[in-house]
Amino acid sequence: MDYTKQIQEIASKLFAEEKIDIFIGYRQNAFDDNQVPILVTVPADVPNLIFTDKSVLNLTNYLKFEHTRNKRVGIVVKGCDSRALNMLLTESQVKRENLYVIGINCTGVLNEKGEKAQNCLECVMPDAVVYDEMIGTPSGKKEYSVNVDVKELAAKGLVERGEYFQEIFENCIRCNACRHSCPLCYCTKCCIDQESAVLYNGSNTPSSAFHALMTWSLHLAGRCVDCRNCEKACPSHLPLHLLHKQNEMVIYENFQQHLAGMEKDDRGAFYKYSMKDPDDFIM
Ligand code: SF4
Ligand code: SF4
Ligand code: SF4
Ligand code: SF4
Repeated sequence: MDYTKQIQEIASKLFAEEKIDIFIGYRQNAFDDNQVPILVTVPADVPNLIFTDKSVLNLTNYLKFEHTRNKRVGIVVKGCDSRALNMLLTESQVKRENLYVIGINCTGVLNEKGEKAQNCLECVMPDAVVYDEMIGTPSGKKEYSVNVDVKELAAKGLVERGEYFQEIFENCIRCNACRHSCPLCYCTKCCIDQESAVLYNGSNTPSSAFHALMTWSLHLAGRCVDCRNCEKACPSHLPLHLLHKQNEMVIYENFQQHLAGMEKDDRGAFYKYSMKDPDDFIM
């Protein structure tokens, strides 16, 4: 997957026609073979844009900040990224008329070992679901499968599962990088901020970390698109996907096979209602 040339051509055209103020894409990192986001504001910087199977990060995260919020923005989205964009549109965080979206029909990105990333192996929608212009050949929606690690986890009892999460979250340093890197965590005042949350009184104990991460994962339940920006940002390399993929599985099974951001104006799992829903808990 190398769409560098096409993306540079589109970005140049958008600047030449004065359709955008900023183009959000990827550029080569200066000191290793990873790519980092770039916010191009002048046509002279367009040649820095790149797109290959190392274009890993979900760029829609950059739509939630002030410097892009009220600007006309060109942006590149893969399938998972476009689902996040759908969520941001549905939740009124971005204006569609301000965006020019280049949708990628994605064949998967690579992890640090040069292998296809785990979320790509399990990806249900590699094609962009929101776009103005499309690059690549669509491969269509795939069948949903439960994440391999979650399958293992589900075999454990509830107490054992709780203890497992407690143990791994002991290594959380409460840096909030996971939250900041998630496109769907855009609240200006976040209830799990270590510095400001009254709940934790500025503390960073294992129990506050556990509580914060559990709360965070519930705020993403039915909204997470499995882009794994959060996991890549975590300096402690915690397997955060376990939380989100577990929630995704439960929601898929109990909320009419809901998957976040697949459709326009889908307000999410908790807005879905069917006469066939189990209601045995209602008096
Ligand atoms: S999860 Fe899907 S859309 Fe996202 S990078 Fe992987 S294959 Fe592409
Ligand atoms: S919680 Fe993580 S995987 Fe889910 S949408 Fe946010 S950054 Fe992506
Ligand atoms: S964790 Fe919850 S409150 Fe904090 S930014 Fe994310 S969605 Fe908002
Ligand atoms: S990025 Fe990792 S270490 Fe930082 S708060 Fe999130 S889980 Fe904890």
